[in-house]
Amino acid sequence: MTTSNRRYHITTFGCQMNKADSERMAGILEDMGFEWSEDPNNADLILYNTCTIRDNAEQKVYSYLGRQAKRKQEQPNLTLVVAGCVAQQEGEALLRRVPELDLVMGPQHANRLEDLLEQVFGGSQVVATEPINIVEDITKPRRDSTVTAWVNVIYGCNERCTYCVVPNVRGVEQSRTPEAIRSEIEQLGRLGYQEVTLLGQNIDAYGRDLPGVTPEGRHQHTLTDLLYYVHDVPGIERIRFATSHPRYFTERLIQACAELPKVCEHFHIPFQSGDNEVLKRMSRGYTHEKYRRIIAMIRQYMPDASISADAIVGFPGETEAQFENTLQLLEDIGFDHLNTAAYSPRPGTPAAVWDQQLSEEVKSDRLQRLNHLVEAKALERSQRYLNRIEEVLVEDQNLKDPSQVMGRTRGNRLTFFDGNIAELKGQLVRVKVIGVRAFSLTAERLAVPCC
Ligand code: SF4
Repeated sequence: MTTSNRRYHITTFGCQMNKADSERMAGILEDMGFEWSEDPNNADLILYNTCTIRDNAEQKVYSYLGRQAKRKQEQPNLTLVVAGCVAQQEGEALLRRVPELDLVMGPQHANRLEDLLEQVFGGSQVVATEPINIVEDITKPRRDSTVTAWVNVIYGCNERCTYCVVPNVRGVEQSRTPEAIRSEIEQLGRLGYQEVTLLGQNIDAYGRDLPGVTPEGRHQHTLTDLLYYVHDVPGIERIRFATSHPRYFTERLIQACAELPKVCEHFHIPFQSGDNEVLKRMSRGYTHEKYRRIIAMIRQYMPDASISADAIVGFPGETEAQFENTLQLLEDIGFDHLNTAAYSPRPGTPAAVWDQQLSEEVKSDRLQRLNHLVEAKALERSQRYLNRIEEVLVEDQNLKDPSQVMGRTRGNRLTFFDGNIAELKGQLVRVKVIGVRAFSLTAERLAVPCC
């Protein structure tokens, strides 16, 4: 089947890893001759890149699929693809549920989209969810931004957090080589990108699966070594990384972040619960005391560093007192941002079959109380920016006010100020902060350009 003049649409659910996978799959489709269609109803190929981290995320795709499956009955040439974590979790079962589907492919198969579609265009209905060694990334991703870029450094996760479906759906850890990562970042620098975010479900595990041990007996390739290795790439002004794991967070990494000018002072380190008993049943592998020491050490080296995290409330068996330990941790640390969620039992995870599941009422009550405190503490933390001079990387126009542009400080704070996007896009601009809100800032541009 010729693919030229055929149009495609990708809908992405979930995390940054999924966004990066979608950008690569879009690049493959455009290499095959497909063109992007903003409106999915004008597309000849529909791809849903799905998330199953919580039940509501999983349910979302089924309503979308239902509509397109109906459309396919009238338009048999429509190609329907489900990729990502629901595809991996459900596999063949998804074909039984939605017989109109052409391709069901797990996250590890993202780079194989062309081969799989060739099989579909040859008349097959394809399910690709078997574990594979992820082939090195030769695609030219169709990136959403021309200023900041996601760079995968490690796929999968070997941890066994008892609530988490990720290891089941994204497989074992597979690190890319430092050379492959550097060459991708060099290309981004040549293309005018200013900022890269290194991505991994558990980025502190980077390199554990790569060969090589130092004379001191530690892994030759670690995230810290990678930061030193890619720091001098021409054109790249800022380096970020996510998502960290307190179990493996080292002083060596903190020292590197303090030392390397391009590495931004923002750390995303999920703690999930402030109670040691709950952390133990989550198999997180650290205590709240260790978590507090990590944050204290970061602030020792970088007093103004931004700290964000993830927290789950309503884990099976969580008592009111244990929940209050989470509130206490939040109160004591003062996060710049906290992603919060109520526990959602996931298929194939240990905690999903445990007794002591809490009611939805208790979970939503705790989530509300947590979110209330999150907003109050974030506003408190934002106060430190008032009247300060900050460097903002301009990413886009303020969609709500076209006379303004938006971008982020090194601390990852969303910032809005008057300006012309055509002039300022991709620029590092010095601004003075004149207004603060819990999760964003208002600023005014200073006369002299940043650098
Ligand atoms: S570290 Fe734990 S929570 Fe994070 S992806 Fe791995 S298993 Fe899931």
